[in-house]
Amino acid sequence: MRIDVITIFPDYLNPLREALLGKAVERERISVGVHDLRTWTHDVHKTVDDSPYGGGPGMVMKPDVWGEALDAVCPPAAETSPRLVVPTPAGRPFTQDLAHEWSREPWLVFACGRYEGIDQRVVDEASERMPVDEVSIGDYVLVGGEVAVLAMVESVVRLLPGVLGNPASAQQDSFSDGLLEGPSYTRPEVWRGRPVPDVLRSGNHGAIARWRRDKALERTWRRRPELLDALPEGALDRKDREA
Ligand code: SAM
Repeated sequence: MRIDVITIFPDYLNPLREALLGKAVERERISVGVHDLRTWTHDVHKTVDDSPYGGGPGMVMKPDVWGEALDAVCPPAAETSPRLVVPTPAGRPFTQDLAHEWSREPWLVFACGRYEGIDQRVVDEASERMPVDEVSIGDYVLVGGEVAVLAMVESVVRLLPGVLGNPASAQQDSFSDGLLEGPSYTRPEVWRGRPVPDVLRSGNHGAIARWRRDKALERTWRRRPELLDALPEGALDRKDREA
């Protein structure tokens, strides 16, 4: 998978070359390009923003600079076009389902906004020549898109074949079956007077699976009840309902 990020703070994206993501680069599971938006400015101050039409606080990122940047990173005449991701708190929610969908794409381009965001015409024009997703990573407002991009890229890349040490862990994570994952424990057996639940040391795989499922249901019901409402018909069996 190829990943390009356009930003006014290229160094903010350095973690794309660290830890699991860095290993994915080394193993050539992904290639990463980080581009400084100011490359496509033409004034001495390298201006990327201007005041908003209609008035109001803050500044808006200029369409001419963004247009040139996107033309350079994903040329309109090229044979392939990427999926363009524009992080914004006003976007649709980024979810694990979307991470799975993006993990099947060969090429993702991320456009990091700052200030009050990017002139809407950039998204409208880009949508005519490539798929564009305006997405939010949560109901809060960050200063810029870079942190959102790091979160999204990490969640996508860990789904690529050969990236996680044990691919089964992604299959058992929260959201894979529509539920939150239950609690996990490791050695020692007793820590500060708190023992690991007996069932996890029983060796009874059926009982362990049932306990984990019950804990996942309980945790989801307490913390994210709306996830239970969104489960598909038939997702809960009789034992789940008794839990
Ligand atoms: N005026 C915008 C609004 O109210 O919707 C907020 C702009 S925010 C200060 C600047 C940039 O941060 C956005 O263009 C976007 O790239 C990023 N950003 C902020 N919060 C975000 C979120 N929850 N999800 C994704 N990106 C976010």
